[in-house]
Amino acid sequence: MGVCFAILSTVMTSRIKQLDPVTVTKIAAGEVVDRPASILKELIENAIDAQATSIVVTIENGGKDRIVVSDNGTGISKDDLVRAPLRHATSKINSVTDIYTTCTFGFRGEALASICHCATLHIVSKQADKPAYQLTTFEDTISAVTPSSHPQGTSITVGPLFENIPVRQRFLKSATTEAAYCYDACLHMALSHPNIAIRFCSNQTEKLNTGGTQDLYTLLLSVYGNSLKGHCVPVNESLGPISIKGYISAPTLTFSNRTKQLITVNQRLVSNTLITKALNDSFRDLIPHRRFPLAVLAITLATDAVDVNVHPQKKDVKFTNPGFLFDCIPKAIGMALKKSTAHTDPLTAILSPTSSPAPSATPPSSPPPVAASSPSTTSLSTPPSFSSKPSCAPSAPTTPTLTGLTMPLSRLAQTKAEKCYAPFDYIQVLNTYIFLKTPTGAYLIDQHAVHERILYEKLKSAANQETSRHLLLISDIVNLTPATMDLYTDYAAIFESLRFTIEPFGSNQLAIRECPLLFKDACLSDLILELLECLKAYPHSQQTLSPLQKETLQRQACRAAIKAGQTLHPAEINALLHDFIQAPQNMTCPHGRPLAIHFDEQKLASLFLRK
Ligand code: ADP
Ligand code: MG
Repeated sequence: MGVCFAILSTVMTSRIKQLDPVTVTKIAAGEVVDRPASILKELIENAIDAQATSIVVTIENGGKDRIVVSDNGTGISKDDLVRAPLRHATSKINSVTDIYTTCTFGFRGEALASICHCATLHIVSKQADKPAYQLTTFEDTISAVTPSSHPQGTSITVGPLFENIPVRQRFLKSATTEAAYCYDACLHMALSHPNIAIRFCSNQTEKLNTGGTQDLYTLLLSVYGNSLKGHCVPVNESLGPISIKGYISAPTLTFSNRTKQLITVNQRLVSNTLITKALNDSFRDLIPHRRFPLAVLAITLATDAVDVNVHPQKKDVKFTNPGFLFDCIPKAIGMALKKSTAHTDPLTAILSPTSSPAPSATPPSSPPPVAASSPSTTSLSTPPSFSSKPSCAPSAPTTPTLTGLTMPLSRLAQTKAEKCYAPFDYIQVLNTYIFLKTPTGAYLIDQHAVHERILYEKLKSAANQETSRHLLLISDIVNLTPATMDLYTDYAAIFESLRFTIEPFGSNQLAIRECPLLFKDACLSDLILELLECLKAYPHSQQTLSPLQKETLQRQACRAAIKAGQTLHPAEINALLHDFIQAPQNMTCPHGRPLAIHFDEQKLASLFLRK
């Protein structure tokens, strides 16, 4: 009697009840399937897992009424067909540890089960040398497996979406918008697998057909347009256990959003904050704020260094060594950009051994041979002259020093006798722009932007070589939470290597005694907190200071650079042009504005509608 009363009182007072299995499955399905495009993604991934080389996707009414994905993969056996739509039924792993060695997209056995709780699912499949079989399933009802006809591979048809869950239908957007999401899903899969032929049709109209044999560059041009031509930089770098391959756009080509950034990690498309931040940091001193480069990159690393089981739709991953990857991405991008500018730039021709107007070792008393202006000149070894050049001879080859470039221009002009360069073939207009003739056309240069880049690169290399510390007259005190204090204790050595002298000060405070010279005017407590946040997210990264360093140097370079509208002495222009040609050839200023535009024959011809 007493026990019964106890149970009854529990029933009366308990607010917790176990949900019925149908509700549980529908809730779980909501995590995997939120719109037609997420179904497409799962079905295409299954086809790729089945080694398909050709995948055809058709949708109707934005995928809301019907989705069909057909592949020529290995197919599903008659026995497996009945198990495929069951929850947690998979052929891809046997135990949880397999997740860290598997190379397949799927491993949870959830996709088909989730889809059939949102719509009817019809599967027809045929393995090589076996008959084809089919089955239909909806919610918990699975039909009998019956013979069918189908070429080798699998076709999966998904019926009207969310008919059984009207509340979820309300969250779908218009057919056009859903179709656009479906197109994106197919495009992203195609770009991350250029060797697989992917065809996408919406309402019987073909929207994408990649053919499958295309290399990534051709595919990029075909889907994003020929305007990418000449602006794509190949990336093919291996840094220890990490390889990064694909294409980025040159800094001169940027976009208003991130839709052209597709990153795969071990072939899996991911949307990962570490990678996004590392990409942003890589382009921070190359492109304008709020603009984004194209980046279609495949990152490959050991499967056990990546946890793929961290996102319901498997759209994100975690890394065992995030700090290392965080550092690798800017390095790989930097190396790729450097290689791409090394060969292609027409500027190299100006200073090539046969046509070099660069300073020679000739003593100042013997002027260099300067030919009269000639329109047919192709070599600048005897450059023609537009403007009245100083007739003094160039000094011995010098790399202009940081002080030389940051000193006021009046001083720079005074030193022109010592720093006199062989005259270039240029003309200055509006006291702002300089036309520099090259063997293949002409550069139009923005004098402020180009000087800013030159100064910035010099300041950056000087800052990287700097070893001294700036002693603060009054120490900066940083207040930390107990958790951040622990974090600091772990990373004290990194702060030391970044040239901060920091001492614990009270239980949760730090006293900053010394800092790198570059940051002597910065708000050091904010800076330390920012670095700690960064180290928390990307442990042991060596690059945490780099974005802050870039920002500080950008400001310094901008302030010190010559201004638009500023009158320059020909010797100063020559010095500027010399540095422009010798400097690492980033074609944007540190704020991302173009600093020079090359007008080659083709560009000039098209400007004058010659072709
Ligand atoms: P998972 O991909 O995680 O294994 P799914 O629910 O997506 O789970 O698929 C269940 C199983 O059905 C897969 O493990 C696979 O064996 C089989 N399967 C699904 N789609 C295909 C396909 N297109 N070709 C061959 N086998 C497939
Ligand atoms: Mg799957």
